[in-house]
Amino acid sequence: MFIIGSVIARIVSAIPWRVDALTGPLKMQATPSASATYSISQRRLLQSAALLQTAGRIARLGGWMIDVATDRVLWSDEVCDIHEVPHGTVLTLEQAMRYYPPGWHAKAEQLYARCLREGAPFDEEMQILTSGGRVVWVRAIGEAVRDADGALLQVQGACQDISDKKALEFSASQLSERLTTTLESITDAFLMVDRDWTLTYLNSEAERLLQCTRENVVGVNVWTSFPEAVGGPYYRAYHKAMETNTSVSFEEYYEPLDLWTEIRAYPSQEGLAIYFLDISQRKASEAEIHALAFYDKLTGLPNRQLLLNRVEHALELCRRVARPGALLVIDLDNFKAINDTRGHDKGDILLQLVAGRLRGVVRDSDTVARFGGDEFVILLEDLGVTDVEAAAGAQAIGGKVLAAFGAPFDIAGVAEYSTPSVGITIFDGGSGSVDDVLKRADMAMYQSKAGGRNGISFFDPDMQARVSARVALEADLRQALAHQEFVLHYQPQAAVDGRLCGAEALVRWQHPRRGLVPPSEFIAIAEETGLIIPLGRWVMETACRQLARWGASRATDMLEMAVNVSAYQFHRADFVETVLAVLRESGARPSRLKLELTESLLLKDVDGTIEKMKRLKQIGVGFALDDFGTGYSSLSYLHRLPLDQLKIDHTFIWDAFREGHGAAIVRIIVALGKALKMTVLAEGVETDSQFSFIVAEGCQAYQGYLLSKPLPEAALAEFIARPRAPARPRM
Ligand code: C2E
Ligand code: MG
Ligand code: MG
Repeated sequence: MFIIGSVIARIVSAIPWRVDALTGPLKMQATPSASATYSISQRRLLQSAALLQTAGRIARLGGWMIDVATDRVLWSDEVCDIHEVPHGTVLTLEQAMRYYPPGWHAKAEQLYARCLREGAPFDEEMQILTSGGRVVWVRAIGEAVRDADGALLQVQGACQDISDKKALEFSASQLSERLTTTLESITDAFLMVDRDWTLTYLNSEAERLLQCTRENVVGVNVWTSFPEAVGGPYYRAYHKAMETNTSVSFEEYYEPLDLWTEIRAYPSQEGLAIYFLDISQRKASEAEIHALAFYDKLTGLPNRQLLLNRVEHALELCRRVARPGALLVIDLDNFKAINDTRGHDKGDILLQLVAGRLRGVVRDSDTVARFGGDEFVILLEDLGVTDVEAAAGAQAIGGKVLAAFGAPFDIAGVAEYSTPSVGITIFDGGSGSVDDVLKRADMAMYQSKAGGRNGISFFDPDMQARVSARVALEADLRQALAHQEFVLHYQPQAAVDGRLCGAEALVRWQHPRRGLVPPSEFIAIAEETGLIIPLGRWVMETACRQLARWGASRATDMLEMAVNVSAYQFHRADFVETVLAVLRESGARPSRLKLELTESLLLKDVDGTIEKMKRLKQIGVGFALDDFGTGYSSLSYLHRLPLDQLKIDHTFIWDAFREGHGAAIVRIIVALGKALKMTVLAEGVETDSQFSFIVAEGCQAYQGYLLSKPLPEAALAEFIARPRAPARPRM
């Protein structure tokens, strides 16, 4: 915007007025003739006049003056152009006033009159009607000029054509008006926030859905107005849109207003434009349709269709992750009798009660479905790694199902007993179609019926035998702990120069009938059943007592005892305290105890693991990473773990002489151990050539049948006492 008022005087005085057409006593400076000799100041004046004329033309700005005495009005060329009259036109005030059309005339007269009368200056935007009949917006500025005595001489001023600016203003205001009308009339709710999350606009639909008024939320930070959304899905999506400058669209439920919304948000330099729709109705209908299509009306359980979908999905998952699942078909044994004797409505009550009890025996993530009539199906997923594990899990659930029918059902005040026949099949990625799996479970269920009802049958008899054996083993294991049937064997460990470093404690089960059972047959079950906790403690105590005995003799006090620790033991909150207590009670030296951890153990809760390890390391306890290379150690955190030793799994030692990458892996592990300042021990060294190999590769220690098999306590004592020649690698 030009600050025109302050330059009026200069414009008026410097404009080279065309006075040739002018007569009368107007006192003004005539344009000097070209032939005259100019003084320097005159030349400057002329230059400045020329510049002002140029500026006036570009800005469509000119000067005017009214001689009070004669009422004559003088316009500069630019003002003449604006009014579309020839340059030099001289008018009376009344003639000049006629250029103001009716709507503006009175206003113009009033302004000039006040200026003439009281000398009041003015600056107004008004319209004129030019000689050519065009309506033009002008900015008219005027002020009074007085003589030395204060008498009014003339009124002078400037006039600028501001039609272009007005046209722009008009279209902008029209546009914004149209935009506001559009935004108000669209059915979507709409709101805008700037880049600082201040809400700058919301339409009335947005006010309605968000239950707020413009007065309360516009100009306020949107997260202050809607604090419940902070950190939630809306918050994350809008921040993402703003930060990545990409639009987002999503459906989300806004709990505080019980509102399902469909959102589209578009970022711009100004901020975020957010459109949203209330889709609560649609969501409710969808939920209803889903319930009708996929749930059983009577029991509220998933129906046949949903079950089939889930089994399909479970089979797909099995194919990908190779973890077996189980399907249990449960048929009520006496439903027909209850239905016939007590009526269908009572039968319905029994089905509802059964549904409740079945839900009670599984985890929330498992599926209990009503398959039709009095047949229910339970789908169990994530039941362990092997078929036998899955079968044991399914058998356990089957047992709970039978137990759930142990108490009578209260049917309209009468206690009714019912029993189920259960059929189980285990499935994995190669189990065929959903139909195949269902058929197998169904056949197993009929086997239960044929076997006298109220029982459990597996589709695969072999599986049944294995599960039975496992169940028996579990019971035996509990007994074994109570009867102290476990023994420790110790496998010597030596440095590659032949010096004995210690031994690894390995548990065995002295079974009354089966003889010595290796840990591979019972550690996993002990872990699943939680028996590993008392068993692990027993191992730790026994090994530490042996360690204390070594510590008492000079010949053996340098020997270390390696003890295997299961993840289940390690991740218990009291693990560190247990180890400390065992060390205290046994009198063993902590610095001679080495705990063997597995890679999978380290994967879970890395920070917590490091914390526990550090606490034990403080008192000198060492750590070895067992079976290294077979798990999923992440190099990114391996260096953070306070480990002392890497134990290369025996498979790599054996593979080194077969096809494969065994040798390369051994080399890499040795290099890794060096870099991380850990010693490297090779496991399962059975032959001279394996020994030579691990020495050549730089392993510092080894363990294996070449040195010794795991030995009972007495045999170990003999082994230690035996003089031995230093081992020498034979190439
Ligand atoms: P591990 O800790 O890797 O123990 C080494 C296993 O390799 C032992 O089997 C040992 O007898 C066997 N072994 C050692 N040298 C040779 C060899 O040269 N050739 C062959 N073929 N085998 C060799 P074991 O005693 O059957 O133990 C198996 C696994 O059971 C152990 O593997 C360990 O993971 C677990 N385990 C044993 N005792 C315990 C225990 O007290 N607690 C826990 N949590 N796990 C244990
Ligand atoms: Mg071990
Ligand atoms: Mg090992």
